[in-house]
Amino acid sequence: METLLAAVKKYWGYDTLLPLQAEAMQAVLHQRDSLVVLPTGGGKSLCFQAPALCMPGLAVVVSPLIALMKDQVDALSSNGAPAACVNSMMSHDERRRVADDVRMGRIKLLYLSPERLMTPKTLEFLRQTGPSFFAIDEAHCISDWGHDFRPEYRALKVLKEQFAGVAVHAYTATATPRVRDDMVKLLALENPEVHVGSFDRQNLVYRIARRTDRMQQIADVIARHNDESGIVYCIRRADVDDVCASLKAAGVSALPYHAGLSDDDRRANQDAFIREHVKIIVATVAFGMGIDKSNVRFVIHAGAPKSLEHYQQESGRAGRDGLEAECCLLYSPGDFMAWRKLQAKESGGEAAHRMLAGIERFCTSAVCRRRSLMEHFGQSYEGENCGACDACLGEVEYVEEAESLVLAQKILSCVLRLRESYGAGYTALVLAGSREQRILDAGHDQLSTHGLLSEHDRGDVRNWIEQLIEQEFLKRAGEDRYQVLNVTTSGRELLRGGANPRLLKPAERSAKRSKADTISWEGVDRGLFEELRAFRRQQAEEQGLPPFVVFSDATLRDVARRRPATLSGVGGVRGIGEQKLQQYGEALLQIVLDYCHRNDVTTDVESTAPTETTTIAATSVSDAKLRAYEMFLEGKGVEEVAEKVGRALSTTRGYLADCIDAHGISDADPWVEPATFQRIRGAVAEVGMERLKPLHEALGGDVGYDELRIAVACLRNLPTAASD
Ligand code: ADP
Ligand code: ZN
Repeated sequence: METLLAAVKKYWGYDTLLPLQAEAMQAVLHQRDSLVVLPTGGGKSLCFQAPALCMPGLAVVVSPLIALMKDQVDALSSNGAPAACVNSMMSHDERRRVADDVRMGRIKLLYLSPERLMTPKTLEFLRQTGPSFFAIDEAHCISDWGHDFRPEYRALKVLKEQFAGVAVHAYTATATPRVRDDMVKLLALENPEVHVGSFDRQNLVYRIARRTDRMQQIADVIARHNDESGIVYCIRRADVDDVCASLKAAGVSALPYHAGLSDDDRRANQDAFIREHVKIIVATVAFGMGIDKSNVRFVIHAGAPKSLEHYQQESGRAGRDGLEAECCLLYSPGDFMAWRKLQAKESGGEAAHRMLAGIERFCTSAVCRRRSLMEHFGQSYEGENCGACDACLGEVEYVEEAESLVLAQKILSCVLRLRESYGAGYTALVLAGSREQRILDAGHDQLSTHGLLSEHDRGDVRNWIEQLIEQEFLKRAGEDRYQVLNVTTSGRELLRGGANPRLLKPAERSAKRSKADTISWEGVDRGLFEELRAFRRQQAEEQGLPPFVVFSDATLRDVARRRPATLSGVGGVRGIGEQKLQQYGEALLQIVLDYCHRNDVTTDVESTAPTETTTIAATSVSDAKLRAYEMFLEGKGVEEVAEKVGRALSTTRGYLADCIDAHGISDADPWVEPATFQRIRGAVAEVGMERLKPLHEALGGDVGYDELRIAVACLRNLPTAASD
């Protein structure tokens, strides 16, 4: 084990292991078959890569995708670890060179697809070489109960027969018991050691909101992640194209990804994202498998995912480097309907239907998101408040108790008036006072409960119904696809005033800083971080590598936190091993010294790993932002400032809004035409400024959201209430 830790330090620059890595590595060293289940970002690759470097002979890694192999081999090589892959994209000569290297013992890790591994020629070649062990990555692909079934994986069963005494290790992030059993059985693992990690992704912040103004909500998330990489998932191709076009129009760099694009375009767009030529990829769920990019800082679901399993996997692509990242889910009741329709076509069956109901409950509920997710995967969450989801951060507000009771009573009595014969959607329509034809036809516009909640948003009413189901005041009855609402016994109790329902207030959400966010930026000099990031981009460009392979975000932050003034100090940074030190050490040192000198910032800061007790450092506002503030205060326009600070227009607009808040500016003159401003003021008096969409509509749609946002930010700073 000591040799192993030394190798981890030497090649990867890590001083410690992540949970279960030690156990998983022991199993490899002891040549005991094993199954390792760790969530995305849990550090599975190290579990077999580090032992491979310490054991005699060649380790064979089975991987389902060429892109995935290539990234891993690139990452290993950039750390000075001898690895190679063989795949169909390589020329005959290249493949022969790899074979020679293997024969000469120059390679410790060989990546292969299952198809290639199982060819008689490869098997024969490996028998002569005598592999040290087999590692099966993404091993859930072997199960047709999982979501990425790959029939080629089935052939791997013969490995245990053909290579007697050679251990086989399976790695996956998919935890359902059924898939787990399949992996053990179908790989014929012998008495395997099984390690299952916690499914709590502590560095992820979860937020769920009903979709009201899609682009506005997406823009809000993006604004919190200045210039960082993110994924926006949509249900349909058309949505991908829409969202992507709107982002581009707003000056955000984004590219689409869906099955309607040619293979070449898809590959090019994915590549541009990985190499950080573009910040955001807007995609259907077709995107993601095989994306190892570790510094995805946010994942937005612009529509509800298909199941909690899908959600865990898709949202899990955020923050694989262990640094804070945000997962934001925007849903609308229509999303679930859309999935149901698709399922009906695919004859999805009972299981698919139940999975959909699970995610629907998750979206509309009012409890800790982390707890719900973990419980779904059969693990329990200890602790009262996770501090990193909208429910626990207090961003979700409840309707006052007395009012909740009245609302719930209105809803339940409407269910009774409808003779418990209609579903949730229809009931919500009646309560909202809809005059849809089917309601008129049924005479339900004559019910005393028709329009009883017409002052509320129809979607909110729909959510309250879900919440009342969750709290068992209502239940669904009847056949799967035609379920109707029934009032339960405790529901009747509630009608008599003897219960306390908890209903969510559809609040305007202001994103607070989560615990994870505060900690991982603690002590980091953002200006230096930006310079290091530029250096990384340039190096990546020169070497044709993805930036996160050159250095992870975590490593750059640690450099910008410790600001080492010596070469050995640089070597002490987490994530800088021997090879990286040799290759980049001097350059990093120069950047640090130069920056600290220029900005009069101290070097060699003792602080190592950030702790939870300290608060965010004073350097949390980046250089660019501060410069932008200065120019705004001088009355400069957005375009000019964007150009001067080298930021996208959208980012700069975000800076402006923040600047208006921070400095209490109430005069929008430099950015909004006075006449337009007056018109906006007039509209605010009518419809308020809680939400921009009604305002936009009240102005006949001819004032853009950017101007509205700026005007509203200024109006908020007026001494008297602007809406009087
Ligand atoms: P997985 O395959 O389980 O999703 P990865 O193997 O891609 O996870 O690792 C996730 C991230 O964690 C990578 O950026 C990796 O470099 C980092 N990592 C792995 N092991 C350690 C460790 N012991 N200390 C710090 N970071 C680690
Ligand atoms: Zn929580």
